[in-house]
Order: sequence, then structure tokens, then C-alpha cells
Amino acid sequence: MQMHAALDLEHLPDSPYASELRRDFPDLRFSPELEKEFQTFHLERVRSRVRFFQLAICALAITTAVHLIFMDGISVNDVVYGWLGVVVPTCLFLVWASWSNYYEQIYLPLARVAVPVFAIASAIGVANRSVGGHPDPLYFLTTYSIALFFLGGQLFREALLATGAMIIAHGATLAYVGEPPTSILYYVVVLTVTGAVGAFVYRGVERQLRTSFLERGLMGEMVARDGLTGLKNRGAFDDYFPRMWHQALRDRRSLALLLIDVDHFKAYNDRYGHQGGDQALRRVAQVVQGFARRPLDIAARYGGEEFVLALFDLSADSVRDMADQLRKSIHALSITHEDSPTASFVTASIGVAIVGPRIGRSPEGTVQVADEALYSAKRSGRNCVNVVDCDQMLFSTGTFRRSA
Ligand code: GH3
Ligand code: MG
Ligand code: MG
Repeated sequence: MQMHAALDLEHLPDSPYASELRRDFPDLRFSPELEKEFQTFHLERVRSRVRFFQLAICALAITTAVHLIFMDGISVNDVVYGWLGVVVPTCLFLVWASWSNYYEQIYLPLARVAVPVFAIASAIGVANRSVGGHPDPLYFLTTYSIALFFLGGQLFREALLATGAMIIAHGATLAYVGEPPTSILYYVVVLTVTGAVGAFVYRGVERQLRTSFLERGLMGEMVARDGLTGLKNRGAFDDYFPRMWHQALRDRRSLALLLIDVDHFKAYNDRYGHQGGDQALRRVAQVVQGFARRPLDIAARYGGEEFVLALFDLSADSVRDMADQLRKSIHALSITHEDSPTASFVTASIGVAIVGPRIGRSPEGTVQVADEALYSAKRSGRNCVNVVDCDQMLFSTGTFRRSA
């Protein structure tokens, strides 16, 4: 069974890997950011193949040059300008690229131009020579079209494009030099069938590769995720929040930390069972996640029936609005809770700390302020929001209080 069939992808709303697996990428392309990551992954995997391919092409180019000079008697000058001047240096450069530290940056852009150009040049060369009575190898072109898919290091579309260009160039050159239509048809059909076999098989290989890339990415993400809700877990939050804090400190931006605690959840479990409780937590989690849409924001399961939401650089008014929206959205899930003294549906209380990071303050202190705000929200009747704006409070020392 494939891994993503066992995973409930719907529970991973903020994972780019899960979203591509859900989409099933019929176009063999990911979103731009992920596509870049995939190409790096792919290039690393095909590196030794690419080296082999480029070395082979290089050897072939040199052999051809020698053949042209010594067997065909073509003047060295002509060969130097055409073959030795352009093709061989390009091949040598690509061999170097496949070993260099710049491989990831330069190989694909370079290959994107050089590989089809080499394919077209070979197609024209072979066509010309076959007309001149040379029993020149069509098998070279068929082999090359397969190699384009499996050895060139390019992805499906690029390899397909190069193969297509090669076939058209071969057919066009044969027509140009006056080959009879039946023989052109024969060559083109042979090349098209071989190219199609390569394309068909390689397409499956690339799909498999892309799937395993997504699954690997997802597995890496799972370490940071809470199994029940799919949200980031406490460890991921503890890891991320101090970094967010330091970024805000550097950029002189504010942060808002929301602690969200489901009201009377023990009673909910007692009434509806643990399964029912789990289901309710999942639904609340989805709502909380929906409030962390910007790239720097994070939503996480803080523990038990508590969630945390950290928001970067919002005005105090927006934070208040969002916190109240969140409270209302949880209520609006309309999850019946007949044993709640607060409301007939599941509700949550939210404690909010708004803070401009500065020396003397800390991420832990921010969590503590939010925790105290939550405690007050609980005491003032639950299903409500309590905001503490640290910059509006006059602590004599400018630092947070220590916990009792
Ligand atoms: P309050 O309104 O003061 O927050 O009351 P509460 O009952 O929500 O708080 P309390 O801390 O007494 O109980 C939390 C409950 O949450 C107890 C625990 O069984 C339940 N809980 C924690 N984690 C899970 C979970 O993963 N699944 C389920 N079903 N219940 C959980
Ligand atoms: Mg609690
Ligand atoms: Mg609770």
C-alpha cells in the first residue's frame, strides 16, 4: 500500500507535500517552490548517471571527429570549426559541470540548451551522411532518444522536447537532401516509436520519483506534527517560536501569542467518549490552523485540548479582532456539548499576549503572559478572549514578571 493512502492527507492542510499528493500532479510539475526543491533532489540522484552520459557523449564526439578526419577525409579545418570547435568543448564543459561544485546551479540550464542542440546536430549529420551512401547508424539516434530520458538528467518534458526536435530535424534534413518520402517515413516512424517507448516508460519513472520525493518530505514533516490533529506539535512550536521572536526583535516588529483552551473538555469526553472528543479536537484544530495563513505565522497543538497560535506583526486591534473571530468560529462549528455550563456548543477561551520583543523580554515570558491571560479568561466565564498588550502595561523594570 502506498504511504499516502494510509495517511489522511486532509488532516495536513498546511503541508505543501500533502497538497501535491492530493493534487496527484498529472502535469508532472509541482508549485514553483517545491519544484525547485524537487529538481535539486532529482539532480543529486542522477548525478552519477549524468557524469556517465556526458563522458559517453564526449567520447562519441571525439570518436566522430577522428572518424571524420581519418576515414572520411574531411579537411581538419572544417572539422575543427564545426565539431572540434563547438561540440567537443560543449561536451567537455558539461562533463566538468557534472563534477563541479556548481553542478546544481548550472547543469540543468546548460543541458536545456546543449542536449537538444546536440540531438538536432546529430540528427542532421546522420541524415546527411545516410544520403551520401554511408550506412550511418540510425541506431545512434534511437539509442540517443532513449538516453535522453534515462541518462541526460533532464526531466520528462525537456527530454520529450529534445527527442521531438531530433525527430523533426532528422525528417526535415532527409526531405531537404531529397530522400524518397517512403524512406523518410520509415526513419521517422522508427524514431517516433522508440522515442514514445522511452517517453512512456520514463514518465512512469518520474511519477514514481516525484511521489517518493513527496513522501520523504512528508515523513520529515511528520516528526514535527501532532498525530491526532495534523497541526504542528509542541516540539515544533518550541523550536520555531524563539526564532520568530528573534526575527521580530531584529525587525522591530510585534508578536501576538494566542493560547486557546477548549472549555469543559473533560465533561465533553465524559459525555461523548474519547473518540467523540478526538473528533471535536480535530475540528477545532482545523479552525485554529485557518488563522495561521501568512508564511511566518504558526498554529500548533500545545497539549491536550490546548492550541497555540503565534502571529507576526499585526496591530493590537487586528489581533483583538482575529482572536474574537477565532472564538466565534469555534463556537460556529456547532459541536453539541450538552454538559457545558457555558453554552450548548463546544467553546474555547483565549488568552492573548501582544509583545514587542526587546532585551529583557523572552519568548518564555510571552507564553507565560498569554497563559495568565487565559487563566483570567477562564475565570471571567469562558468562551471569551482576554488580551494583554505588554507595551500598554507599565512594568517598572520593562521586563516580565517571574512566575510565582
Ligand atoms: P476548562 O474549561 O477549565 O478548560 O476545563 P477542561 O475540562 O477543558 O480542562 P481539564 O484540564 O480539566 O480537562 C482537559 C481534558 O481534555 C481532559 C482530557 O481527557 C482531555 N483531553 C486531553 N487531550 C485529549 C485528547 O487527545 N483526546 C481527547 N479525547 N481528550 C483529551
Ligand atoms: Mg487545558
Ligand atoms: Mg479546557
